[in-house]
Amino acid sequence: MPELPEVETVRRGLVKLVKGYTIIAAHDLHPRALKPESIAPLKSINGAKIIDLNRRGKFLWFVLDRPQVLVAHLGMSGQFLIHQKDRPAAKHVRAKFHLSKNIRKRELVFNDQRTFGWVSVEELTNAIPTSAQHIATDPFDPNFDKSDTVNKFAKRNIKIKTALLNQEIMSGVGNIYADETLWRAKVHPEISTADLSKKKIARIIELATEVMQEAIEKGGTSFDDLYINVNGESGFFEQSLAAYGRTDQPCPRCSAPIRRITFSARSSHFCPSCQR
Ligand SMILES: [Zn+2]
Repeated sequence: MPELPEVETVRRGLVKLVKGYTIIAAHDLHPRALKPESIAPLKSINGAKIIDLNRRGKFLWFVLDRPQVLVAHLGMSGQFLIHQKDRPAAKHVRAKFHLSKNIRKRELVFNDQRTFGWVSVEELTNAIPTSAQHIATDPFDPNFDKSDTVNKFAKRNIKIKTALLNQEIMSGVGNIYADETLWRAKVHPEISTADLSKKKIARIIELATEVMQEAIEKGGTSFDDLYINVNGESGFFEQSLAAYGRTDQPCPRCSAPIRRITFSARSSHFCPSCQR
């Protein structure tokens, strides 16, 4: 499942390819492609020029030359692809956007095998689309307030892993990066936020930022210019994971076997020796 680094990689790639283009025709091609809360049909953005691409947490949106925005969520398997003649056509196209800029034409497709992703037309409130209003800032957001976020963590009396995954406290951290962050911090996933010092919570936020930054950089380097692909795997996964998905493999720090436990219907991977 794409997490913040993958969505940010898509945003950075996509903005280079679609900024300044006009949406000539937008079509949704699957009953679940358009979010039911969309304030207008997709064709309502026909004629809009794409000014920029923004993101909050895992919500992406195309800023248009009008008050409405085109919001997209990749869900489990959503991808944005620029159709290329020399490549096979995408197999699970849910929405299609014909774009043009002077004489240049491009076809942007939203491909989504598992159909948990969606697009919608929305309005902005304080520069954030309706569906992302409840999502807190992530550490890469210029408006991110670290000490305020530390206080929000400290006020809760919940497991640190649960707090990291709560997108209303701080956004961006999903299951994979939560496990990696807590491994780096040498903190057990089930420790209560109430039992962590503010200094330790601040350190956990710094490490979450660091691990996601590294993933964004790796995603960026493996990025094919015209083929924007998010399938839940980035170059980061194969090379750099210390805990996530490494059950019974040696901890890179102390060689103790990594353990897997389940709570809140999610797996947590940690080192029982260095994360006490
Ligand atoms: Zn260890």
